[in-house]
Amino acid sequence: MPSDPGKVVLVGAGPGDPSLLTLRGQQLLQKADVVLYDYLVNELVLSHAPPTAELVCLGRHGTGRMFSQSEVNEQMIAAAHSGKFVVRLKGGDPSVFGRVAEETAALEAAHVQYEVVPGVTAALAASSYTGIPLTHRDFASCVAFIAGQESREKDESSLDFEYLAKFPGTLVIYMGVTTAPAWATRLLRHGKPASTPVAIVRHGSLAQQQVVRTTLGDVPKVLAPGKMRPPAVILVGEVVDSSPAVDWFTSRPLFGRTLMVTRPEYQADDLIDRLAELGARALVQPAIRIAPVDDFSNIDASIARLPQFEWLVFSSANGVSHFLDRLLSTSNDLRRLGSCRIAAIGPATIAALDQYHLCADVMPDEYRAEALAAKLAPDAAGKRFLLLRASRGREVLGEALTAAGGKVEQLAVYQSNDVEQADPEVVDLLQTGSVDWITVTSSAIARSLVLLFGDQLHQTKLAAISPLTASVLSEAGYSPTVVATEYTTRGLLEAVLDSEQKA
Ligand code: SAH
Repeated sequence: MPSDPGKVVLVGAGPGDPSLLTLRGQQLLQKADVVLYDYLVNELVLSHAPPTAELVCLGRHGTGRMFSQSEVNEQMIAAAHSGKFVVRLKGGDPSVFGRVAEETAALEAAHVQYEVVPGVTAALAASSYTGIPLTHRDFASCVAFIAGQESREKDESSLDFEYLAKFPGTLVIYMGVTTAPAWATRLLRHGKPASTPVAIVRHGSLAQQQVVRTTLGDVPKVLAPGKMRPPAVILVGEVVDSSPAVDWFTSRPLFGRTLMVTRPEYQADDLIDRLAELGARALVQPAIRIAPVDDFSNIDASIARLPQFEWLVFSSANGVSHFLDRLLSTSNDLRRLGSCRIAAIGPATIAALDQYHLCADVMPDEYRAEALAAKLAPDAAGKRFLLLRASRGREVLGEALTAAGGKVEQLAVYQSNDVEQADPEVVDLLQTGSVDWITVTSSAIARSLVLLFGDQLHQTKLAAISPLTASVLSEAGYSPTVVATEYTTRGLLEAVLDSEQKA
């Protein structure tokens, strides 16, 4: 064995919603050399692992290879013996129908150090995300977690259905979808009333959560073979009827909707977070890629001449970060900006300036180049403007300021390129009509989307951030369903919400 022994941590990834991972789980994932994860783990949780970590999926029913329990044990032990830090990531909680004892016994026997981190088990998530309490002062003072499907090696069920039928509390059945007719019939046969309320919670805590309310007597019919696919937990007991008919999770305004986010990935977080709060599923497919310029000599030359300019004009948040990062990496002195005044096209650009503790002297009321030019034009004659911009884009700002008598220099501070190939999974969802909206947050994105998807854009609704973006789409034959009246991502979401409420 190497001098630095490896270690295995068994971590509960939670039931689905990636933000239900514990802080301890996140800390440990950030250190992982190897992550061995179950098919029920939401792959978004894996984003906490370092990019260098080896990620191994231990099998998905029906697709590819399923690892047997002894193969899983061997993998964990071999990686730990070679000095690696191994995260064994399990859906929900490791010790609830997670075979944790078999894995820790194997680690003990192989003298591998280990730790177990709990997770939110499916029953708890199904309860919180449907508003159905597991216990209730009037109806249920205890709760039982039950395996609807037991070990395949066992000949007979170890469950005592006579006892379970009399259990004075809530029953939560895991792995019980395909076996529902069998367990429901046995509970009924032992006297559990057919009228007992039941809730089937599928994909609990995820944007695609489904809840079916029924009674025990109807379970064999509702969950007849082929009627529903796992994963689901089934809550059985009076608590189901004690809950409000409308729950907080599915009543969020965009619940069940899928929206495609097309901004460059590192700029998409705000929109993704906001969509998650509104209950939507965010499908990330950037349409353009933003990168630094290949050659910084023009930028450096302009930085050296900054005292010659009266105005710095920023028409995007990207322009701010790429220009100021270069300025600070070459001199680390904000005074290089001298007495230049600063103009910004809109709130996102202002927010980017704020990150550098800079304020804008001018921002137009309408967040577009024409409005910014109109704001600057009255005092432009004889003034020198430096326009910080992308490698491609509109010329209107430069032209308008020149026409107003300004001396304009344009400086490309970042490159904007089209993404040329979409993720096949995204294409598939679009083709099958599973994408409700595409958010189109700039005219460059609009042009790139037309090239990327063409007529597949007819399979969804388009939400444009501004009339200019809308006109790019309309001219290509894909008129947007909504156009924001405030030209920000916030305004765009308001337009979508408005349309959904009317629908
Ligand atoms: N260790 C896991 C359970 C693994 S057994 C946990 O603590 O949750 C697998 C079963 O868990 C599935 O058959 C299903 O019954 C349940 N399950 C897991 N994730 C679920 C989800 N998001 N919604 C509903 N049931 C889920």
